[in-house]
Amino acid sequence: MSESLTIALTKGRILKETLPLLASVGIEPLDDVDRSRKLIFDTTHSDVRLVIIRGTDVPTYVRHGAADVGVVGKDILLEHGAEGLYEPLDLGIARCRLMTAGPVGWRSDGARIRVATKFVNIARRHFARQGVHADVIKLYGAMELAPIMDLADLIVDIVDTGNTLRANGMEPLEEIASISSRLIVNKAAMRSRHALIQGLIDRLAAVLPAR
Ligand code: AMP
Repeated sequence: MSESLTIALTKGRILKETLPLLASVGIEPLDDVDRSRKLIFDTTHSDVRLVIIRGTDVPTYVRHGAADVGVVGKDILLEHGAEGLYEPLDLGIARCRLMTAGPVGWRSDGARIRVATKFVNIARRHFARQGVHADVIKLYGAMELAPIMDLADLIVDIVDTGNTLRANGMEPLEEIASISSRLIVNKAAMRSRHALIQGLIDRLAAVLPAR
């Protein structure tokens, strides 16, 4: 059986913050991941390769075993589910909050509210738990525009500094979940290559900053 390992990552903050972690356990891509247009990268560890894919595709690759291990935001696991995956390690990187937000001074008048978001499942669960009737509208980006254009009353979005909200006349309202990136592992790979993968988990856990 192959003892090789494929790790799925995403461009942007996750890649930027995961590469130093991988480097400190001896895994470094042989090419400049930021400048190359390649999607698969060999590493200094001859048996380990990296694939760079969209965040929402990381759980799919890992669930099907096309990648053995992945790094993905908790927001994606909450929205799309984590069935078929182990989630052994909170890497504590790419931290942010998933929040409801609305125009500054907005108050509910008790009627149905319209909520624009790309996190439709999370939003539906959140408002259902509160007994609030919410019509959830799926968007793929620029959620802050929806209340300005009267497409929605509120949004559910990722908030880091809050600058994006402020720049669009909005304010954060309620925190739904605190988000960070998680290491996820294919269940079958965890059994068949347990020593290899558990070794990676242990070494990564040892280099995470103390929290
Ligand atoms: P901010 O203006 O700092 O509150 O950042 C808000 C925007 O940045 C959000 O709309 C997200 O698209 C993006 N963002 C910030 N942090 C993250 C993260 N950890 N993961 C994914 N997207 C993020």
